[in-house]
Amino acid sequence: MNKFKQYIPIIISILISFVIVVFMGTPKNDNVKEIYNVYLDGKLLGSIKSKKALENYIDKEQKELKKEYNVDKIYVPNGIDIEKCVTHNAKILSEKQIYNKIKNKKSFTIKGYIVSITDKDGKETKINILKKNLFDKATNKVLRIFVDSKEVDNYKNDTQKEIKETGSLIENIYIDETVTIKEAFISTDEMIFDDVTTLTQYLLFGSLDKNQEYVVKPGDTIETVAFNNKLGVEEFLIVNPEFTSSNNLLSVGQTVSIALIDPILSIVVEKHIVEDMDKLYETIEKEDPSMYVGTTKTEVEGINGVQRVTSKVKYINGEAQPALIASSFVITEPVNKVVLKGTKRYQSGYYGGGGSPAQVSGSWGWPTISPYIITSNFGYRWGRLHAGIDISGCGFGSPIYSIASGTVTEVVNSCPGQGYYGSKCGGGYGNVVYIDHGNGVVVKYGHLNSVTVSRGQRVSRGQVVGTMGNSGSSTGTHLHFEVRVNGSPTNPRSMY
Ligand SMILES: [Zn+2]
Repeated sequence: MNKFKQYIPIIISILISFVIVVFMGTPKNDNVKEIYNVYLDGKLLGSIKSKKALENYIDKEQKELKKEYNVDKIYVPNGIDIEKCVTHNAKILSEKQIYNKIKNKKSFTIKGYIVSITDKDGKETKINILKKNLFDKATNKVLRIFVDSKEVDNYKNDTQKEIKETGSLIENIYIDETVTIKEAFISTDEMIFDDVTTLTQYLLFGSLDKNQEYVVKPGDTIETVAFNNKLGVEEFLIVNPEFTSSNNLLSVGQTVSIALIDPILSIVVEKHIVEDMDKLYETIEKEDPSMYVGTTKTEVEGINGVQRVTSKVKYINGEAQPALIASSFVITEPVNKVVLKGTKRYQSGYYGGGGSPAQVSGSWGWPTISPYIITSNFGYRWGRLHAGIDISGCGFGSPIYSIASGTVTEVVNSCPGQGYYGSKCGGGYGNVVYIDHGNGVVVKYGHLNSVTVSRGQRVSRGQVVGTMGNSGSSTGTHLHFEVRVNGSPTNPRSMY
């Protein structure tokens, strides 16, 4: 006890000097401190001793995020600003206190890449990806959905075979949109693609929640299921890769996908194509005085010739665009069909036909000059019915022929206030001629440059009704050739 009392003055003096040191600091150094102010979207959250310590704390606490994205570091949220500053007097928060404040307000970030896709109209789509090469890999997968994989390989490895007679060569592959990829800190509350399969699906369907399904009923075929659900057969095969051809059988009760493709990118493939196509024969009528009026007889059967056509065709996501024929030559000339038409009058009574020309049944004329290229077929594409076929390659201003005799029922050839090529002209088909060819067959000749017939006019088979053009909503010079039989869209190719 006594011994302790003896030490009291010494203890007190030590305590006093300690307090002096703590509150005054050493006289020389003042009490200036380096601290870090943490701001979130411009508002001060508090001050910390060390920026590094905060970053490390976040990284340590966010183990789950690291695991989820398989990354080795988690960063502060976007909008966080950490500024070094020198102060005399500041309240310092612990890393944990600041961390808790941040955590409740905004998601942390990881290092990734932002892919920006801008189309020609300036519309921008942004996609977040974890690794830079994911985008190339997914784009390559989408490309191979639209183009034969072997052809792509041969193009990329420069091992395409020269065309000896007929065949095709890929001349160019590119993305039509402007694509930029830049490194960025991406908030973990945003969609971040970290695998090729999911990104491919997104690029193809334009969303991730398109998984409409259909249960097969008795009598269904791939063709009918596709058509009834607004899919082209090719599209059906894309969304149901387990089928290899439209001839594959479906089993009743089986579930198939009927998701609509809506690609985010326009993948362009330019091809040089050499192919043989029919040079159609003409039908010539010859009067025969030994046969009665109203009777016909085929004297010579028509045989189609062959012509070799070289064209340059551009495909966007597998869909051919209006094209140009580079050259063509005839390999064999067609043999024209000769039909004898009776002119002998009956002795008395019935005079057949009432003067109207005998119809050559089942023989439809072709609406364009030859050669030509059919760039778009009849059927569903991107969920919309292409109710006709697109014929191009004949050149701007080339003649368009009536495929049979008939009456012009409607002509759409001007668009007041929208200019001649207004996109709303003729419902997107620009200048259009409709001809009623009888027996319920009405043909629509669309995107014409000029129209040379008028409403109510009688036309004969092969008569020029206008010229090929690019009017309306069209991506190039072509004829939209649409046939309706009793009002329902019919594939024109089934008529030839
Ligand atoms: Zn068309």
